[in-house]
Amino acid sequence: MCAIVGIADHKEASNLTYLGLHALQHRGQEGAGIVSTDGEQVFAHRRRGLVQDVFGNGSLARLKGSAAIGHTRYSTTGSSNIANLGPLMMKSSLGWVSLAHNGNLVDGEKWTRKLEAEGAIFQSTNDTEVIIHLMARSGEKDLEAALIKALKQVEGAFSIIAMNADKMVVVRDPRGFRPLLMGDLDGSTVFASEDTAFDLIGAKTVREVRPGEMITVSLRNHGAPESSFPFAPKEKAQCVFEYVYFSRPDSTVFGSNVHEVRKELGRKLAKEQPAPDAHLVIPVPDSGVPAAIGFAEGAKIPFDMGIIRSHYVGRTFIEPQQSIRDFGVKLKLNPVRSAIQGKNIVVVDDSLVRGTTTRKLVKHLRDAGANKVHIRISSPPITHSCFYGIDTPTRKELIASTHSTEYIREYIGADSLGYLSEQGLMETASAMSGRGFCDACFTGKYPTALN
Ligand code: AMP
Repeated sequence: MCAIVGIADHKEASNLTYLGLHALQHRGQEGAGIVSTDGEQVFAHRRRGLVQDVFGNGSLARLKGSAAIGHTRYSTTGSSNIANLGPLMMKSSLGWVSLAHNGNLVDGEKWTRKLEAEGAIFQSTNDTEVIIHLMARSGEKDLEAALIKALKQVEGAFSIIAMNADKMVVVRDPRGFRPLLMGDLDGSTVFASEDTAFDLIGAKTVREVRPGEMITVSLRNHGAPESSFPFAPKEKAQCVFEYVYFSRPDSTVFGSNVHEVRKELGRKLAKEQPAPDAHLVIPVPDSGVPAAIGFAEGAKIPFDMGIIRSHYVGRTFIEPQQSIRDFGVKLKLNPVRSAIQGKNIVVVDDSLVRGTTTRKLVKHLRDAGANKVHIRISSPPITHSCFYGIDTPTRKELIASTHSTEYIREYIGADSLGYLSEQGLMETASAMSGRGFCDACFTGKYPTALN
């Protein structure tokens, strides 16, 4: 997954893009980049690492100009090398173009093979580069026309911010898999994956970029943003996992506040999967907190922070290597002995993927004196990989794709394990945000062909 930010026409464009990326760090921790322009030249800085480390040593001051786009990367396709970091840039008959992409193309590999066979030279293993190549080959002279022609040929998830010296163009795929919002900062148009980026820079949300919409902002004439719908409409398939786990709880995604949705998922979970002998509900911080609050409310069981998270460790799951991930659980989460000793506890987490985090956690909780440990998950079993940008690459890594809930309970060492039902999740998402979600990771019902 990734975050994208765009600031059109503001004298602090790069600084604001930096802050926007900072607010969206949770969407990708592998690397970050900003490309800016002063209308003549283009400036770029991309590095591996966290946003605050990437842009040290005066790099922001070198990103001149009043328009900038930024990207944080979390590798879903392609390896974690620097050539894969966004925004990607190209120079072609279109002039130079930079492009920041959130989402995944399902046919990225197929296109890469085809284009390479035709002589294209790829710098990265990133599916975003396919879009760049298709744009360069489009024969169009105009950024919007090239983008449209390229994007009509590919399948999958794309929220994109593209920029050249004249304009900033944003596009969201017709199914609207990934979020993208437009905001206003003192008359300047700004874009970001989540509105917490706007909160930080003091921008107001104007609205979501709609599924299938293209919005163009001229960087030359300060005109109002222009909207068009160049793609054939498709049934909406917004990623429900943005609600379950991915987005920040203080963001409003797909029209609803994520914290509120998660609390409601927790209330529903308490109804569907009660734990009558529990004395205490504790969340797996941070992403399990809202659902645990909802569970405690729904079950009328006291809530406490029985596990403390070290904030000096990132989202361990995001680290591409299994060895780091394994070590990370203990680094990151530690039980509060006094809170849980001798108690039957309900531990609420947002999702169970491989089961490795939960397994270790249950052991730590028992070692710290918990009596019974009931695990409750505020989403259904994840049985299928995501091809639209969430990091669940192979089915065999997903414990629920091949094992029963009873097997998983035993594997993680819990006294009981209960998931929210698929129906419960979709009812909540639809009730709070209307219909039109992708839940393929829980059902295997993919809204697109897969390649
Ligand atoms: P696991 O131990 O593999 O079952 O991982 C479960 C934990 O990973 C839960 O605490 C989730 O909050 C978290 N998680 C779920 N999906 C993702 C993801 N795509 N990226 C990072 N963390 C995730």
